[in-house]
Amino acid sequence: MSEQPSAPRPLPVVAFFDIDKTLLNGASLLFLARAARTLGIVSLRDLARFGWEALRFRRRGEHLGVLEEVRDRGMRMLAGTSAERLHGLAGSVVRRMQPKLWPETREVLRAHLDAGHEVWLVSTTPDFLAQELAASLGATGGIGTGLEIADGVFTGRFTGPTMHGPEKAAAAARLLADRGYDPADCYAYSDSINDLPLLSSVGTAVVINPDRELAAHAAEAGWRMLRLDPSSIRAERRRVREEARRSSA
Ligand SMILES: [Mg+2]
Repeated sequence: MSEQPSAPRPLPVVAFFDIDKTLLNGASLLFLARAARTLGIVSLRDLARFGWEALRFRRRGEHLGVLEEVRDRGMRMLAGTSAERLHGLAGSVVRRMQPKLWPETREVLRAHLDAGHEVWLVSTTPDFLAQELAASLGATGGIGTGLEIADGVFTGRFTGPTMHGPEKAAAAARLLADRGYDPADCYAYSDSINDLPLLSSVGTAVVINPDRELAAHAAEAGWRMLRLDPSSIRAERRRVREEARRSSA
C-alpha cells in the first residue's frame, strides 16, 4: 500500500479571530452598507445616514451603545430582505473585503488550519456575513450576531444579544464545552479591549493592532503583540496583481 499524505487530524484546539481591525483593515458593517447600496438593497439616503454613523463608530471606537445603534439602524434597512438575497449580499461583501484583509493575520489563520486546528471568526457583524467570510478563508465557521429569519425573510430582529464583549467569550466557551476542548490549549486574536473576556478565557492571547488600553494590558500580561502597517496590504495587492499579469501573459 502506498502512503497517502492525509489531511491533518483535527486537534482539540480552536483559534478564535475577531474580524474588524484584527483580520480586516476596517469595519465590516461599512463594507456591508456599501455592498447593500450597490445591489440596490438600501437607498443612498439610508446609506448617507448609515455612513455618518459608521464614521462615528470609527472615531469613537467600539463603544457598545454606538455599536448597537449602528447595528440596529444598519440592520433595520435590511428587514424584509430574503435569506437568499442576504447570502448573495454576503458574497459581494466578502469579495470587497479580500483586498483589505491583513496578510499577516490571514497567514496566522492559515497556519492554525495547517496545524489541524479549528478556526472560528467571532464578531459583532451579522452571522451570515461572519459565516461567508469564514468560508472564503477555509475557516471552520463564523459566529456573529444572529439575524431572525422567518418564512425565508429577515424580520429586522435579532435572535440574541449583540455578539460583543462578554457575549463573545460566552459563545467561545459554549463551543469549547460542546467539543470537550480545554480553553488552555486554545488561542484568541483581537485588537480591542472589549474582547478582553475572550482573550483572557484562552491559554494563548495575541493582540493585533491593539487599542491603547489593550496594548497596556497585553504588555503587562506578556501577550504577543502584532502591529500591522497598511504597506503590507499594498504589497500584497501588488503581488496579487503581478501574479495575475504573469498568469495571463
Ligand atoms: Mg475588532
